[in-house]
Amino acid sequence: MTAQQGVPRPDEIVDFYDLAGPAFSAVWDGNFHLGYWFDENDQASIPEATDRLTDLVLDRLQVGPGDRVLDVGCGIGKPAVRLAERTGAEVVGISNNQGQVDQANVRAAEAGLAGRVRFEYADAMAQPFADAEFDAVFALESIIHMDRPVALAEMARTLRPGGRLVLTDMIETAPEGSDEPTVAESAFGATDFVRLPRIAAYRELLPAAGLEVVELLDITQHTQHTMLRLGPDIAQVHAHVQERVGAAADELLKRVMVSISGAARIGYMIGVARRPR
Ligand code: SAH
Repeated sequence: MTAQQGVPRPDEIVDFYDLAGPAFSAVWDGNFHLGYWFDENDQASIPEATDRLTDLVLDRLQVGPGDRVLDVGCGIGKPAVRLAERTGAEVVGISNNQGQVDQANVRAAEAGLAGRVRFEYADAMAQPFADAEFDAVFALESIIHMDRPVALAEMARTLRPGGRLVLTDMIETAPEGSDEPTVAESAFGATDFVRLPRIAAYRELLPAAGLEVVELLDITQHTQHTMLRLGPDIAQVHAHVQERVGAAADELLKRVMVSISGAARIGYMIGVARRPR
Protein backbone atom coordinates (compact mmCIF):
# COMPACT_ATOMS: atom_id res chain seq x y z
CA MET A 1 0.00 0.00 0.00
CA THR A 2 1.29 3.44 -0.80
CA ALA A 3 1.48 5.79 2.16
CA GLN A 4 -0.61 8.94 1.94
CA GLN A 5 1.40 12.08 2.53
CA GLY A 6 1.05 13.37 6.04
CA VAL A 7 -0.57 10.15 7.26
CA PRO A 8 1.29 8.40 10.06
CA ARG A 9 2.56 5.00 9.02
CA PRO A 10 0.76 2.00 10.56
CA ASP A 11 3.75 1.32 12.80
CA GLU A 12 3.48 4.87 14.13
CA ILE A 13 -0.18 4.25 15.00
CA VAL A 14 0.90 1.10 16.83
CA ASP A 15 3.50 3.11 18.78
CA PHE A 16 0.94 5.79 19.50
CA TYR A 17 -1.46 3.32 21.14
CA ASP A 18 1.40 1.65 23.01
CA LEU A 19 2.19 5.05 24.47
CA ALA A 20 -1.21 6.57 24.93
CA GLY A 21 -3.42 3.48 25.43
CA PRO A 22 -2.63 2.90 29.12
CA ALA A 23 -3.05 6.61 29.77
CA PHE A 24 -6.40 6.67 27.95
CA SER A 25 -7.63 3.73 30.04
CA ALA A 26 -6.40 5.34 33.24
CA VAL A 27 -8.00 8.74 32.80
CA TRP A 28 -10.76 8.06 30.32
CA ASP A 29 -12.42 4.68 29.82
CA GLY A 30 -11.95 1.29 28.16
CA ASN A 31 -13.81 2.74 25.19
CA PHE A 32 -11.25 4.45 22.97
CA HIS A 33 -13.85 6.71 21.38
CA LEU A 34 -15.90 9.84 21.96
CA GLY A 35 -18.94 10.05 24.18
CA TYR A 36 -22.50 10.89 23.20
CA TRP A 37 -24.25 13.58 25.24
CA PHE A 38 -27.87 14.64 24.69
CA ASP A 39 -27.08 18.30 25.44
CA GLU A 40 -24.69 20.45 27.44
CA ASN A 41 -26.66 19.83 30.65
CA ASP A 42 -26.40 16.06 30.28
CA GLN A 43 -24.61 14.79 33.41
CA ALA A 44 -23.79 11.33 32.05
CA SER A 45 -20.48 9.90 33.23
CA ILE A 46 -17.75 9.20 30.69
CA PRO A 47 -18.27 5.39 30.71
CA GLU A 48 -22.00 5.97 30.24
CA ALA A 49 -21.55 8.46 27.40
CA THR A 50 -18.98 6.36 25.58
CA ASP A 51 -21.18 3.25 25.91
CA ARG A 52 -24.03 5.28 24.41
CA LEU A 53 -21.97 5.91 21.31
CA THR A 54 -21.09 2.21 21.19
CA ASP A 55 -24.81 1.39 21.34
CA LEU A 56 -25.67 3.78 18.50
CA VAL A 57 -23.25 1.77 16.37
CA LEU A 58 -24.20 -1.70 17.64
CA ASP A 59 -27.95 -1.15 17.25
CA ARG A 60 -27.45 -0.31 13.59
CA LEU A 61 -25.75 -3.66 12.92
CA GLN A 62 -29.07 -5.47 13.36
CA VAL A 63 -27.47 -8.76 14.37
CA GLY A 64 -28.54 -11.57 16.68
CA PRO A 65 -27.55 -15.04 17.90
CA GLY A 66 -25.68 -17.03 15.26
CA ASP A 67 -24.46 -13.97 13.35
CA ARG A 68 -20.72 -13.44 12.97
CA VAL A 69 -19.52 -9.86 13.29
CA LEU A 70 -16.12 -8.31 12.56
CA ASP A 71 -14.90 -5.42 14.74
CA VAL A 72 -12.28 -3.51 12.75
CA GLY A 73 -9.84 -1.67 15.03
CA CYS A 74 -11.12 -3.22 18.27
CA GLY A 75 -9.15 -1.26 20.88
CA ILE A 76 -9.19 -3.17 24.16
CA GLY A 77 -12.41 -4.97 23.30
CA LYS A 78 -15.07 -3.16 25.29
CA PRO A 79 -17.45 -2.57 22.34
CA ALA A 80 -17.08 -6.15 21.02
CA VAL A 81 -17.80 -7.72 24.40
CA ARG A 82 -20.80 -5.43 24.77
CA LEU A 83 -22.08 -6.50 21.35
CA ALA A 84 -21.79 -10.19 22.24
CA GLU A 85 -23.56 -9.64 25.56
CA ARG A 86 -26.34 -7.56 24.11
CA THR A 87 -27.09 -9.55 20.94
CA GLY A 88 -25.77 -13.08 21.35
CA ALA A 89 -23.72 -12.66 18.17
CA GLU A 90 -20.24 -14.07 17.70
CA VAL A 91 -17.55 -11.38 17.36
CA VAL A 92 -14.05 -11.35 15.91
CA GLY A 93 -12.08 -8.20 16.70
CA ILE A 94 -8.88 -7.13 14.98
CA SER A 95 -6.24 -4.58 15.87
CA ASN A 96 -2.73 -3.94 14.64
CA ASN A 97 -1.65 -3.52 18.26
CA GLN A 98 -0.77 -6.85 19.91
CA GLY A 99 -1.00 -5.41 23.44
CA GLN A 100 -4.61 -4.40 22.78
CA VAL A 101 -5.42 -7.83 21.34
CA ASP A 102 -4.07 -9.51 24.49
CA GLN A 103 -5.98 -7.16 26.80
CA ALA A 104 -9.17 -7.62 24.79
CA ASN A 105 -8.90 -11.42 24.97
CA VAL A 106 -8.53 -11.17 28.76
CA ARG A 107 -11.66 -8.99 28.84
CA ALA A 108 -13.62 -11.59 26.82
CA ALA A 109 -12.46 -14.41 29.08
CA GLU A 110 -13.38 -12.43 32.20
CA ALA A 111 -16.83 -11.86 30.77
CA GLY A 112 -17.15 -15.62 30.23
CA LEU A 113 -17.36 -15.05 26.49
CA ALA A 114 -14.07 -16.54 25.29
CA GLY A 115 -16.00 -19.03 23.15
CA ARG A 116 -17.92 -16.36 21.30
CA VAL A 117 -15.61 -13.33 21.25
CA ARG A 118 -12.08 -13.57 19.93
CA PHE A 119 -9.46 -10.95 19.16
CA GLU A 120 -6.54 -11.27 16.82
CA TYR A 121 -3.68 -9.25 15.45
CA ALA A 122 -4.41 -8.13 11.87
CA ASP A 123 -4.14 -5.14 9.58
CA ALA A 124 -7.57 -3.77 8.70
CA MET A 125 -6.26 -2.82 5.28
CA ALA A 126 -5.11 -6.37 4.47
CA GLN A 127 -7.49 -8.62 6.41
CA PRO A 128 -6.64 -12.32 6.82
CA PHE A 129 -10.26 -13.34 6.12
CA ALA A 130 -12.06 -14.90 3.18
CA ASP A 131 -14.54 -12.91 1.08
CA ALA A 132 -18.03 -12.62 2.59
CA GLU A 133 -17.02 -14.22 5.92
CA PHE A 134 -19.02 -11.87 8.15
CA ASP A 135 -22.72 -11.10 8.55
CA ALA A 136 -21.88 -7.57 9.67
CA VAL A 137 -18.80 -5.39 10.09
CA PHE A 138 -18.21 -2.35 12.29
CA ALA A 139 -15.39 0.15 12.65
CA LEU A 140 -15.82 2.38 15.67
CA GLU A 141 -13.50 5.40 15.40
CA SER A 142 -10.76 3.38 13.72
CA ILE A 143 -10.97 4.46 10.07
CA ILE A 144 -9.54 7.79 11.25
CA HIS A 145 -6.14 6.05 11.23
CA MET A 146 -6.53 4.33 7.87
CA ASP A 147 -6.40 5.03 4.18
CA ARG A 148 -10.18 5.25 3.85
CA PRO A 149 -10.72 3.80 0.35
CA VAL A 150 -8.40 0.86 1.06
CA ALA A 151 -9.97 0.11 4.43
CA LEU A 152 -13.53 0.39 3.09
CA ALA A 153 -12.74 -1.97 0.20
CA GLU A 154 -11.47 -4.56 2.69
CA MET A 155 -14.53 -4.15 4.94
CA ALA A 156 -16.80 -4.59 1.91
CA ARG A 157 -14.88 -7.66 0.77
CA THR A 158 -15.18 -9.59 4.03
CA LEU A 159 -18.86 -8.63 4.47
CA ARG A 160 -21.46 -11.02 3.03
CA PRO A 161 -23.92 -9.78 0.42
CA GLY A 162 -26.87 -8.24 2.24
CA GLY A 163 -24.73 -7.57 5.36
CA ARG A 164 -24.29 -4.19 7.00
CA LEU A 165 -21.26 -2.03 7.70
CA VAL A 166 -21.50 0.57 10.47
CA LEU A 167 -18.68 3.03 11.10
CA THR A 168 -17.91 6.33 12.76
CA ASP A 169 -15.52 8.91 11.39
CA MET A 170 -14.27 12.43 12.01
CA ILE A 171 -15.45 14.92 9.42
CA GLU A 172 -15.10 18.49 8.19
CA THR A 173 -18.16 20.54 9.16
CA ALA A 174 -17.07 24.06 8.16
CA PRO A 175 -19.31 25.58 5.49
CA GLU A 176 -18.44 24.57 1.92
CA GLY A 177 -16.02 27.09 0.42
CA SER A 178 -14.94 28.51 3.79
CA ASP A 179 -11.25 29.42 3.95
CA GLU A 180 -10.76 28.95 7.70
CA PRO A 181 -7.46 27.16 8.40
CA THR A 182 -7.62 23.57 9.54
CA VAL A 183 -6.87 22.65 13.14
CA ALA A 184 -3.83 20.78 11.78
CA GLU A 185 -2.49 24.14 10.58
CA SER A 186 -3.69 26.47 13.31
CA ALA A 187 -3.03 24.29 16.35
CA PHE A 188 -0.11 22.17 15.14
CA GLY A 189 1.50 24.31 12.46
CA ALA A 190 1.28 21.44 9.99
CA THR A 191 1.78 22.03 6.29
CA ASP A 192 1.47 18.44 5.07
CA PHE A 193 -1.67 16.60 6.13
CA VAL A 194 -4.76 14.86 4.81
CA ARG A 195 -8.08 16.67 5.01
CA LEU A 196 -10.89 14.95 6.85
CA PRO A 197 -13.81 14.02 4.57
CA ARG A 198 -17.10 15.85 4.61
CA ILE A 199 -20.06 13.63 5.47
CA ALA A 200 -21.19 13.96 1.83
CA ALA A 201 -17.92 12.37 0.68
CA TYR A 202 -19.31 9.08 2.01
CA ARG A 203 -21.90 9.19 -0.79
CA GLU A 204 -18.93 8.44 -3.05
CA LEU A 205 -16.55 6.56 -0.75
CA LEU A 206 -19.10 3.84 0.10
CA PRO A 207 -20.29 3.12 -3.47
CA ALA A 208 -16.66 3.16 -4.64
CA ALA A 209 -16.09 0.27 -2.21
CA GLY A 210 -19.12 -1.56 -3.63
CA LEU A 211 -21.53 -0.60 -0.83
CA GLU A 212 -24.96 1.05 -0.79
CA VAL A 213 -25.48 4.00 1.54
CA VAL A 214 -28.16 3.30 4.17
CA GLU A 215 -27.69 6.22 6.57
CA LEU A 216 -25.25 9.10 7.11
CA LEU A 217 -25.81 10.87 10.41
CA ASP A 218 -23.94 13.95 11.66
CA ILE A 219 -23.69 13.71 15.47
CA THR A 220 -21.19 16.53 15.94
CA GLN A 221 -23.47 18.38 18.38
CA HIS A 222 -23.68 15.32 20.63
CA THR A 223 -20.03 14.39 20.66
CA GLN A 224 -18.48 17.86 20.94
CA HIS A 225 -19.16 17.83 24.64
CA THR A 226 -16.46 15.14 24.82
CA MET A 227 -13.86 17.81 24.16
CA LEU A 228 -15.01 19.80 27.20
CA ARG A 229 -14.82 16.71 29.36
CA LEU A 230 -11.58 15.59 27.79
CA GLY A 231 -9.90 19.00 28.08
CA PRO A 232 -8.43 18.51 31.58
CA ASP A 233 -7.90 14.80 30.90
CA ILE A 234 -5.81 15.49 27.80
CA ALA A 235 -3.28 17.21 30.03
CA GLN A 236 -3.22 14.10 32.22
CA VAL A 237 -2.79 11.81 29.21
CA HIS A 238 0.08 14.00 28.12
CA ALA A 239 1.62 13.90 31.61
CA HIS A 240 1.35 10.07 31.71
CA VAL A 241 3.03 9.81 28.33
CA GLN A 242 5.76 12.25 29.31
CA GLU A 243 6.39 10.30 32.47
CA ARG A 244 6.78 7.05 30.58
CA VAL A 245 8.78 8.13 27.57
CA GLY A 246 9.66 11.77 27.89
CA ALA A 247 9.70 14.41 25.21
CA ALA A 248 10.66 11.93 22.49
CA ALA A 249 6.98 11.06 22.29
CA ASP A 250 5.95 14.59 21.42
CA GLU A 251 6.75 14.31 17.73
CA LEU A 252 4.81 11.06 17.40
CA LEU A 253 1.80 12.41 19.28
CA LYS A 254 1.85 15.50 17.13
CA ARG A 255 1.91 13.45 13.91
CA VAL A 256 -1.09 11.43 15.03
CA MET A 257 -2.98 14.54 16.18
CA VAL A 258 -2.27 16.24 12.85
CA SER A 259 -3.66 13.21 11.02
CA ILE A 260 -7.02 13.59 12.77
CA SER A 261 -7.14 17.40 12.65
CA GLY A 262 -7.33 18.09 8.92
CA ALA A 263 -10.52 20.12 9.20
CA ALA A 264 -11.39 23.69 10.11
CA ARG A 265 -14.27 22.45 12.25
CA ILE A 266 -13.90 18.87 13.30
CA GLY A 267 -17.18 16.98 13.45
CA TYR A 268 -18.28 13.40 13.87
CA MET A 269 -20.53 11.02 11.96
CA ILE A 270 -22.05 7.59 11.94
CA GLY A 271 -22.34 5.86 8.58
CA VAL A 272 -24.33 2.76 7.69
CA ALA A 273 -23.95 0.86 4.43
CA ARG A 274 -25.11 -2.42 2.97
CA ARG A 275 -23.40 -4.80 0.60
CA PRO A 276 -25.84 -5.40 -2.23
CA ARG A 277 -27.17 -8.95 -2.61
N1 SAH B 1 -13.01 0.62 18.25
C1 SAH B 1 -12.29 0.72 19.51
C2 SAH B 1 -10.90 1.36 19.36
C3 SAH B 1 -10.87 2.70 18.65
S1 SAH B 1 -9.20 3.38 18.65
C4 SAH B 1 -13.11 1.48 20.51
O1 SAH B 1 -14.01 2.20 20.08
O2 SAH B 1 -12.86 1.37 21.70
C5 SAH B 1 -8.63 2.92 17.01
C6 SAH B 1 -8.28 1.46 16.90
O3 SAH B 1 -7.93 1.18 15.55
C7 SAH B 1 -7.12 1.01 17.75
O4 SAH B 1 -7.45 -0.25 18.29
C8 SAH B 1 -5.97 0.86 16.74
O5 SAH B 1 -5.00 -0.05 17.15
C9 SAH B 1 -6.77 0.36 15.56
N2 SAH B 1 -6.10 0.49 14.26
C10 SAH B 1 -5.57 1.59 13.70
N3 SAH B 1 -5.06 1.31 12.49
C11 SAH B 1 -5.26 -0.02 12.27
C12 SAH B 1 -4.98 -0.92 11.21
N4 SAH B 1 -4.36 -0.52 10.09
N5 SAH B 1 -5.37 -2.21 11.33
C13 SAH B 1 -6.00 -2.65 12.44
N6 SAH B 1 -6.29 -1.85 13.47
C14 SAH B 1 -5.94 -0.55 13.40
